[in-house]
Amino acid sequence: MHALLTDILRQVRPLIGQGQVAQYIPALARVVPDQLGIAVYGVDGQVYSAGDAHTPFSIQSISKVFSLVQAIGHSGEAIWERLGHEPSGQAFNSMVQLEVEKGRPRNPFINAGALVICDINQSRFAAPALSMRDFVRRLAGNAELAADRVVADSEYQFRARNAAMAYLMQAFGNFNNDVDAVLRSYFHHCALAMSCVDVARAFGFLAHRGANPHTGEVVLSARQTQQVNAVMATSGLYDEAGNFAYRVGLPGKSGVGGGILAVVPGRFTVCVWSPELNAAGNSLAGMKALELLSEQIGGSVFSALG
Ligand code: GLN
Repeated sequence: MHALLTDILRQVRPLIGQGQVAQYIPALARVVPDQLGIAVYGVDGQVYSAGDAHTPFSIQSISKVFSLVQAIGHSGEAIWERLGHEPSGQAFNSMVQLEVEKGRPRNPFINAGALVICDINQSRFAAPALSMRDFVRRLAGNAELAADRVVADSEYQFRARNAAMAYLMQAFGNFNNDVDAVLRSYFHHCALAMSCVDVARAFGFLAHRGANPHTGEVVLSARQTQQVNAVMATSGLYDEAGNFAYRVGLPGKSGVGGGILAVVPGRFTVCVWSPELNAAGNSLAGMKALELLSEQIGGSVFSALG
């Protein structure tokens, strides 16, 4: 596996230079663009990695999966009274649908949906940022994990679009807590700094019927795990979810920090990181790396159909 991962990084490295690192906040715009790493975490607890797999990066929208898992953990199916699980076909920060659909976001992986999930969690936890940090530390087995304050503050400074979405949902009666407080929690989660190894480990339960392969902790039921994977497979890469299903064929979740998490059910989780993004806000080299990996190992969940 290590040789395969090294070879995949060699093949995708020439793509670096063809994308652009996220520009919407200075803290991300200055990330060194030619970093590239990949880590695989098997359901047997083995870790394989190559490249910059131990370098922390801003997980950004990958955090939306943690938030969703927390919300499902305490509120179960009730969360779907507040939002849907349909692909949006729109950019992650688009507001167009939200007004037409009366403040009910399409899914938990576009920003509006993640904000509703954070609102649900805000009602549940006295200190949502700390609860999340501790949850992620436990899942990843890394007590050092923390949010990057500079990134979180920068996100808050440039919050206008996310704030607009939250206020629009409030106007439609779909937001219960103070908007500013929920935005602070959301940005804290986005600003968590984790390496490819941390991310692959933290989400190991998604490949293992809901149980953390390392500790045995049951994070979600097997049925809930299937459902989270289903939402990732249909909406995890925003308006590129179809392309990701076509090329990679795995449940996945991307972030504008350049990370992508993918799940090979029953086998392993994988996290790839390359900060340069394509036009949809997904890691350019990361997508290609996962395409090559999935092809090499016959991992596509659609392979049974072909
Ligand atoms: N912090 C980013 C935002 O709210 C997260 C977006 C992303 O990673 N797609 O815009």
